[in-house]
Amino acid sequence: MLGVTVSSPLRVRFAPSPTGYLHIGSARTALFNWLTARHGGGQMLLRIEDTDADRSRPELIDLIFRTLGWLGLDWDGEVVHQSKRADRYRDAVESLLAAGHAYWCECRPDEVKARAQARGGKPGYDGHCRDRELGPGPGRVVRFRTPDEGETVFSDVIRGQVSFPNADLEDFVIVRSNGVPMFHVANAVDDLDMEISHVIRGEDLLPATPKILLLRRALSSESDPLFAHLPLIVNEKRQKLSKRRDDVAVEDYIERGYLPEAMANYLATLGWGPPDGIEIRPMPEIIELFELSDVTKSSAFFDIKKLDAFNGEYIRALPVGEFINRSTHWLFSNPPWPPENFSAGVFEFMAPHVQERVRTLSEVPGYVDFLFLDQPLIDDDSWQKVMEKDRVLAIQVLDVAIEQFESLEPWESKAISLAIIGWADSNGVKRQKAQAPVRVAITGRSVGPPLWESIEVLGRGRTLERLRSAKTRLATT
Ligand code: GLU
Ligand code: ZN
Repeated sequence: MLGVTVSSPLRVRFAPSPTGYLHIGSARTALFNWLTARHGGGQMLLRIEDTDADRSRPELIDLIFRTLGWLGLDWDGEVVHQSKRADRYRDAVESLLAAGHAYWCECRPDEVKARAQARGGKPGYDGHCRDRELGPGPGRVVRFRTPDEGETVFSDVIRGQVSFPNADLEDFVIVRSNGVPMFHVANAVDDLDMEISHVIRGEDLLPATPKILLLRRALSSESDPLFAHLPLIVNEKRQKLSKRRDDVAVEDYIERGYLPEAMANYLATLGWGPPDGIEIRPMPEIIELFELSDVTKSSAFFDIKKLDAFNGEYIRALPVGEFINRSTHWLFSNPPWPPENFSAGVFEFMAPHVQERVRTLSEVPGYVDFLFLDQPLIDDDSWQKVMEKDRVLAIQVLDVAIEQFESLEPWESKAISLAIIGWADSNGVKRQKAQAPVRVAITGRSVGPPLWESIEVLGRGRTLERLRSAKTRLATT
């Protein structure tokens, strides 16, 4: 049977279960619901699927609100909590029982299994209690009576017409023996009551859809909603993102210094792309261009390198003052330097250069730590590569730098650079080669922010001290 799909006002919902952190895939689902609503001038509703009282935790509900807020995704009207709607689900189950769409079953799981084995063929429940007219009782569940023949067909905006043979659907449990209704009932009842026009959710829920639809139709709904099952998100090995293997909590990305606008923009590309192929663009443009029917069926690769590139681009587009503000958290929570050494003025001086180079805000401290540490942290690889490999040149350059810097006037980046570069040019030494030992002595690393500006802001005294201590270290190792 194909239910009728009537065009109704556009109403979508994001319906997370608060049983764990908010997964990248859930965030993408939230975003695609939101884009559909905002593009079509419809309503975006939020429903917390917390029927599973053992696994749902209030702090996880707060985390959902916070994460949606961080991504800039808002919703319309009051949040619906399934935990507050138990009476409604009970009524729905009563009406299904009364109409003969559901029945009580007392079979224990081991009995169901033993009969299936004896019978051979398909495992699952055999309809044993269908006509036994049992009432409620300890240990009993309520099962939905599925049709024996035919197909359950529905329209999916992304997949076209999808059909499931009814013979493959056992009479599934809708109320557990503890009296708690199963996910399918709550989900079907809520989408009806909330007058949802488009059910947009992950592909993993595709097998649940015929059950939910059969329930919905049995509850005498006149029409089906449209469905959109979003493609799976996979890692570089084309495997489904897993909790163990891959970083999938949006929270972790917040802490690693991704900008919410970069993350939201990147999530929009997981299964969808704008017609002109320009992927990095402001959200209002994405809203305008987004079409649910353009979402692909094929799985979407969650590519951290691409996310980093998006993020770097968004960071570079910030006004520098904004970059400084947004970096604050990473400069003040667990910095690698003694907190009293931090100087806002020094950071502001370096900020435009750092902004050009970082991909995430959590990288910011690593670009300026040498300015606030009493001694730079010497990176072993950099020391080996630059100092040890050409010890003679390194000592020579350090000597030149010490001598020139002692009396250099004025102490500013241009003059500082000329002192070293001038020497390199007139001695036939490559500029890069001359600069490298100075950089390692000053910053501890072979890459980092522009060297001459770093030296200027570090000051003459500390610069000379570092050059001398590098020389000593080089002479004694
Ligand atoms: N609560 C379900 C989940 O988090 C989603 C249900 C739905 O979107 O229909 O997987
Ligand atoms: Zn039974």
